[in-house]
Amino acid sequence: METRFRCPCCGFRTLAAPDTMELCPVCWWEDDGQEDADAADVRLTVNGAISLSEARLHFIECGASHPRFVPHVRRPAVEEMAAE
Ligand SMILES: [Zn+2]
Repeated sequence: METRFRCPCCGFRTLAAPDTMELCPVCWWEDDGQEDADAADVRLTVNGAISLSEARLHFIECGASHPRFVPHVRRPAVEEMAAE
């Protein structure tokens, strides 16, 4: 099993590499390199007008980084739940 990287929004290991604009299939966050240090910033790039912090709250509330993405997301696979 290849090493997968943790999505900065949902925390599941869905990404083939970090910071490569990869779209997470579990929460629909696009990984543009934003992380804990700047999570409150609204970058106005690929993820629109929401910060990573807001996207994380959305994921907790509705299961996607934004409510409009709920129809697109899927449940995480068992191997994506691994802590390390
Ligand atoms: Zn995610």
